[in-house]
Order: sequence, then structure tokens, then C-alpha cells
Amino acid sequence: MFGLIGHLTSLEHAQSVARELGYPEYADQGLDFWCSAPPQIVDTITVTSATGQKIEGRYVESCFLPEMLATRRIKAATRKIINAMAHAQKHGINITALGGFSSIIFENFNLQQIRQVRNVKLEFERFTTGNTHTAYIICRQVEQASKQVGIDLSQATVAVCGATGDIGSAVCRWLDARTDVAELLLIARNQERLQALQEELGRGKIMGLEEALPQADIIVWVASMPKGVEIDPTTLKQPCLLIDGGYPKNLGNTIKHPGVHVLNGGIVEHSLDIDWRIMSIVNMDVPARQLFACFAESMLLEFEKLYTNFSWGRNQITLEKMDLIGQVSVKHGFRPLLIPSS
Ligand code: NDP
Repeated sequence: MFGLIGHLTSLEHAQSVARELGYPEYADQGLDFWCSAPPQIVDTITVTSATGQKIEGRYVESCFLPEMLATRRIKAATRKIINAMAHAQKHGINITALGGFSSIIFENFNLQQIRQVRNVKLEFERFTTGNTHTAYIICRQVEQASKQVGIDLSQATVAVCGATGDIGSAVCRWLDARTDVAELLLIARNQERLQALQEELGRGKIMGLEEALPQADIIVWVASMPKGVEIDPTTLKQPCLLIDGGYPKNLGNTIKHPGVHVLNGGIVEHSLDIDWRIMSIVNMDVPARQLFACFAESMLLEFEKLYTNFSWGRNQITLEKMDLIGQVSVKHGFRPLLIPSS
């Protein structure tokens, strides 16, 4: 059995979902209530592979909300993740993806030091961040969606916002080694990590967001921002492709501007319907088929019986691992979400 540990994008989102799912006692509560709410299994999932193989999974809602970080409720945030992991393990789940901010909190607050959660001794090999598959899918989206909007990668400048992150650094490695992209712009706040990445790649210009936006043909958004930034589309090139892989989204405003194309990043489409209700809650356009690539990674590991923490730690995603997860992704019927043809 596979598992998905997820969370909602804001308190407002959580309240509306609680109402929808039939938990009215959660719906009118404020952040303090969510800080003390225990994890819950709220969905039972069946996925059929393109090969015909069927697997079962569970969705564990951690009750973490990004506002907990913004208001410095760090203890509550870390407790949410550790408790959700213990909950998944207690229910016999073999491999569970730590979705969205779950793996970021795990890493940033060194939660690997905590092994014992009440009577559960956490076995980390039962968990994966899902970031290898996410990075692979975003790279394929860059390659394929650029063609859709008429951008030639060999002439293109690609900016990666969140370049030094786990997903961002893997995307940079792939774009450098596997494509003929003309220029890479590396965006993040910590200059030391940016310089280390630039050294590793042997290329890339370190730049602030404001400076980079008007120069980029493609912008990959993979920064861990609890709240999105608002950008002015008139400052962008035309055409410009924005691939937003953040959860919550990095882009804080809806962009509708001629020549500017926005693609939901790190999202896969399955070739068969999945029996679940959780993806309608996170507002996927086609909830029966579309899902986060990190969640799909735990499904792929379950299909392949690869019970190992395939993606773990930070900045350790190799091209070989991206190739491997990419092959099984195709085999089981997943493909990157692209721009719908109008
Ligand atoms: P990491 O914590 O590893 O990296 C985050 C990156 O963002 C770092 O480079 C960080 O550098 C940068 N960053 C953070 N804040 C800012 C800011 N204000 N301006 C510019 N750069 C910033 O995160 P991950 O790589 O694990 O995840 C990245 C995003 O992808 C998250 O939103 C996450 O929820 C989402 N995600 C999506 C998945 C999917 O399936 N679609 C799966 C997993 C994650 P610095 O701190 O130096 O600024």
C-alpha cells in the first residue's frame, strides 16, 4: 500500500474543504484549532497502471497549514509532519510521499533526529519526498511546453526561481546536461548556495527576481514560498512560459496576458481514471486524472515494489535517478501536464 501525506494551501482553503468533506466541527475553527488537530486518513485510493496492475493507497491529511510558518508556530508545524508520518506507518503503509511543505519542514527543522513518536519508531525508508519525479516532470514540461508556445530552447533564457532547492537544483542539472538551453538564470536568496550551484554547473547567472523576469523566455517557479508573489505580466517577454511548480503556488496573481502562458508545474496526468476524491479538493482541472508528481512517485514505487526512500535529503537528485523514475512513470501511464490545445 502507498500513502500520500498532504496539506491544504491556507486556513481559508482548509475551512472550505472541511465543510465539503463533512467535518463541520473543523470548518469554523481558526489557526489554533488546526495547530492541535491530529492527522487523519481522509481518502482511500485505487490506482490502475497502464500495465493493468492495481494498487491501493491512503491519503493522510497532516492538518499543517502554511500560516503556521508565517506566524512562527514552528513546533506545531513540525509536530504535524512527524505525527502524520507516524500515522501512515501505524496503518501499515509501505511507501508514503511527503507532499508540498511536508518534506521542506522535515529537512529545514532536522526532523530526522526524531525517531520515536509515542509508540512508533519511524522507519524513514518508508517515506520519499517525491522530488525526483517532480523535478523530472518539470523538466519534461520545459522541453515539451516550450515547443507548444514556439520557444526554441537553444535560443532561450530559462530562469529558475528556487534554483538552489531540492527540485530547483535538479531542474538546473537536467537543463544543463540534457538540453541545449542557451542561458540559465539562478534565483534564490542565499548567495553562498547560489555560488555553490553556479560552481557545480559551471554556468548560470545569479540574479534577483526583478532583474531576471524581463530577460527570461521561460520561468520555472520552484521556491518554497508560503504565499505567492504578484508579478506584472507587462514586464515579461512575449512569448513567455511560466511553469509554476510551487505548492502553494509561487504566483500570487492570476495572469492573463497575450503571449504569456502559465502552466501548472510538477503535475502529471494519468492515462486512466483514479478512484479518489482528494484531487478535486486541491482544484485540479481534471481531478480523476491529474495529480502532483510527488504523489505519483509513491505510486510508482509501490507499482515497482521499490520500498526505499527513493528521494531523500537535499540536493542529491541525480540525472540517473531522474531517468529511472521517468522510465517507470511512462511505463505506468503518467505523462506531464501540458498546455491544453485551444
Ligand atoms: P527547498 O526548500 O528544497 O528549496 C526551496 C528553494 O526556494 C530554495 O532555493 C530557496 O532558497 C528558494 N526560496 C525560498 N523562498 C524564496 C523567495 N522568497 N525568493 C526566492 N527564492 C526563494 O524546496 P523544494 O525544492 O522541496 O520545493 C519547492 C516547491 O515545490 C515548494 O513550493 C513545494 O511545496 C513544491 N513542491 C511541489 C511538488 C509537486 O508535486 N508539484 C512536490 C514537492 C514540492 P533561499 O532560501 O536561499 O531563498
